[in-house]
Amino acid sequence: MAGREQYEVVIVGGGPAGLCAALYGGRGMLRTVLLERGVPGGELLNTEWIEDYPGFPKVKGRELADLMTQHALQFGAEIRQENAESIVRRPDGIFEVTTSLGTIFEAPAVIITAGGTPLKLEVPGELEYAGRGVSYCAVCDGAFFKGETIAVVGGGDAAVEEADYLTRYAEKVYLIHRRGELRASRILQERLFQNPKIEVVWNKRVLELFGDPSGLKTIALEDTETGQLSELKATGCFVFIGFRPNSGIVQQHFAHDASGYMITDDRMMTSIPGLFAAGDLRVQLTRQVTTAVGDATTAAIAVEKYLTERRQSGAGVGSGAHAGV
Ligand SMILES: Cc1cc2nc3c(=O)[nH]c(=O)nc-3n(C[C@H](O)[C@H](O)[C@H](O)COP(=O)(O)OP(=O)(O)OC[C@H]3O[C@@H](n4cnc5c(N)ncnc54)[C@H](O)[C@@H]3O)c2cc1C
Repeated sequence: MAGREQYEVVIVGGGPAGLCAALYGGRGMLRTVLLERGVPGGELLNTEWIEDYPGFPKVKGRELADLMTQHALQFGAEIRQENAESIVRRPDGIFEVTTSLGTIFEAPAVIITAGGTPLKLEVPGELEYAGRGVSYCAVCDGAFFKGETIAVVGGGDAAVEEADYLTRYAEKVYLIHRRGELRASRILQERLFQNPKIEVVWNKRVLELFGDPSGLKTIALEDTETGQLSELKATGCFVFIGFRPNSGIVQQHFAHDASGYMITDDRMMTSIPGLFAAGDLRVQLTRQVTTAVGDATTAAIAVEKYLTERRQSGAGVGSGAHAGV
């Protein structure tokens, strides 16, 4: 529904960080709205099992997503299925978050929790075979590769975890990594090396993907040390080589690192006053569900303090255009 709507805090993104911020916003009795372009849950929806969320020794990603959504709703947060297109801070300190439905959400504080988008290989054939062999989500597409030989590209936690996961369907999984050692955590590496269906292809870069109208057939590789060319027969290529933060919807300049990850202070406030960032799109050592919800807790509590200070300074917390602040 197009129009202007006023809140005390707008949260952009409904992954673990956004849902946790919504929980705290609602519980703190703030007029809180969370905008999520898809189904709430974020990357949890692309993860089969979570084994490292305290209190849940083994929980399905989808189940944890549902529990977090219900928890946020229980405390009064509003969740709207809308895609935020831009975030702009007006001179009066009120933010306007404009969505693709044309709605403008106004609030003196915004928490951006929009996560990241998987990086592409950017090689010939990747686009052509996307959905016909090339995938960025093992949980979504793994079952299409029953009994087949496939490849996973990457060397971090996501690549190693997903290679292991994919062996429940695939007969053989090659893990293609451009270096001679993996970045993944030790426990995940141990699991990988014990899995007889996985073979690591060290020091190789994907050059091109080939196939026919039925889908992907061959992956062309280059040795990163010798430059030698080779080919791998595979009908699937799952790419887990990192993320680009979804911070581009912020229209004003903000402090960020070379990859676009948002820099915050210890309250999770960005260099734009009143704009807070939490979760995967923030500069930090590691990106996990626990760190996302930790960031979000701090951000939501800092928003409460920010709004109190703003009120005390006479700026008010309503919409500037309509409340005259
Ligand atoms: C394959 C895989 C396996 C993983 N396994 C684990 C694990 O076992 N344990 C663990 O702790 N972590 C794991 N992680 C990492 C964990 O999922 C993330 O760190 C966590 O989900 C980050 O939460 P977030 O809320 O910051 O971002 P996300 O989960 O990415 O959520 C961001 C949300 O924002 C929404 N969004 C983006 N842009 C907009 C917009 N413009 N408007 C509206 N909505 C928008 C997206 O749709 C998405 O729902 C895994 C990640 C992957 C990819």
